[in-house]
Amino acid sequence: METKLLDVTTENIELAAALIADGKLVAFPTETVYGLGADAMNGRAVGKVYAAKGRPSDNPMIVHIAEKEELARLTPVVTPIMEALMETFWPGPLTMVVRKMPGIPDATTGGLDTVGVRMPSDEIARKLIRKSGCPIAAPSANISGRPSPTKPEHVVEDLQGRIDAILMGHDCQVGIESTVVDVTDDIPTILRPGIITQKDLEKAVEKLGKKVEMDPALFVNRPRDVSDKDFKPKAPGMKYKHYAPKAEMLIISGEISKVKAEIEKLKAENEAKGKNVGVILFGDHQFKEAAHDFFAKLRDFDVQAVDMILAGALDSNDGVGFAVMNRMLKSAGYSILNV
Ligand code: AMP
Ligand code: MG
Repeated sequence: METKLLDVTTENIELAAALIADGKLVAFPTETVYGLGADAMNGRAVGKVYAAKGRPSDNPMIVHIAEKEELARLTPVVTPIMEALMETFWPGPLTMVVRKMPGIPDATTGGLDTVGVRMPSDEIARKLIRKSGCPIAAPSANISGRPSPTKPEHVVEDLQGRIDAILMGHDCQVGIESTVVDVTDDIPTILRPGIITQKDLEKAVEKLGKKVEMDPALFVNRPRDVSDKDFKPKAPGMKYKHYAPKAEMLIISGEISKVKAEIEKLKAENEAKGKNVGVILFGDHQFKEAAHDFFAKLRDFDVQAVDMILAGALDSNDGVGFAVMNRMLKSAGYSILNV
């Protein structure tokens, strides 16, 4: 298949929207990561997204909308919790898991009776959704298991020849995927951490007398080589191999001076054995910068044929630090050395 690489112009956004409306696949920028979009109400189109990504079909997609009012068409009841979260964080990097309307295809929700919905703040994404005239189902625009794409060239690398078009926009501002919060129950529960943190969410629902919980599965460390079959966390995406760079990766955790010394030591030892070693070490408290750069660094190391990646752990007591660590641990198959 020939993939159209489209500069972002009004005509090209219209062309991309027409492709989506016609059941085709288009990758597009959002503020979090690039998405691979299809008409969310067209089961056949959504089926092609799974095929293009090599994604397991029980891993649900996020449905992207352009206006808050559209939520009421995807879920039977908009609760006060949903209203409060929408008011505070939409448009923006927050996905709410809600009960789904019967008309939403199983392909979109991975067969679940819930659906993840998000209203992105990115203007290109919003224009595309508006012009296509349908909600757009979109997971990240990468081959399943690879680091999420935060630049247009990442999408080209993974999906050229497999999808109909790519809107070649800007680099993504946030760099990690949206926070996913389950609001189907009385207590909002974070299924995937992101740049909008537990504290941020709690502040928004405080007036309703609500707390926000973390899914306990977020604290389960599952090694990369354990089979997918027996692992059934609530957010389906959590069970698959994720964000894996080609190199072997090790996280070093502890007091910063010790971490730096250990990284230097391991780097020297491995280079002496002829290995090409890459280091990821973010500045103290530079959590948003870490989120912005993390996936791009993994992909850069793949291109440079790095054999081993040594990464300094981030402080998980910070909400954004926790979100980046969630990705870092998965990339490293949970290999962590405490110093
Ligand atoms: P991706 O954008 O590739 O990270 O994929 C979307 C992710 O959103 C999935 O892997 C899930 O973690 C989450 N998600 C979407 N819909 C639901 C849902 N109905 N229930 C739980 N998690 C969901
Ligand atoms: Mg993904």
